[in-house]
Amino acid sequence: MQQQNSLQNYRAKRDFKKTREPAGQKRQSGRGAIFVIQKHQARNLHYDFRLEIDGVLKSWAVPKEPSLNPAVKRLAIAVEDHPLDYADFSGTIPQGEYGAGTVAIWDRGTFANLRKGISLAKTLQEGQIEIDLQGQRLHGGYVLHRIREKPKELWLLIKMKE
Ligand code: MN
Repeated sequence: MQQQNSLQNYRAKRDFKKTREPAGQKRQSGRGAIFVIQKHQARNLHYDFRLEIDGVLKSWAVPKEPSLNPAVKRLAIAVEDHPLDYADFSGTIPQGEYGAGTVAIWDRGTFANLRKGISLAKTLQEGQIEIDLQGQRLHGGYVLHRIREKPKELWLLIKMKE
């Protein structure tokens, strides 16, 4: 499981004198739950999938573009929590810094928990997140399903059948 707190790992990896990424704090967006997907051209191109849960952006690195096809499973590697403010970040991370390269917002919007009677935090803990995404590119039901806990948490991101 990811540590409950949180932003320590995020901050430890970055020098905020050198990168324009936000140091941020734990806070709610106040817009319901938000999600963002950032296309990150680092050493390897990937898509950072982030969901607002309990005041931070829970984050996964998805090596291939998220799919609209329910038959396609995308690997999603759990990474450190990011601050809510990261949802607005795009631009360049300087050479030599963690994640050096370019970040572009690929999609963003709000989402709803489709599992009734259970909190998002609990679905994260259980390794079975079911959400309805309302973005520009991605709409409708998606599942994040944990397939491995150690040494790295691996999940699958899958579009639900309509
Ligand atoms: Mn990334």
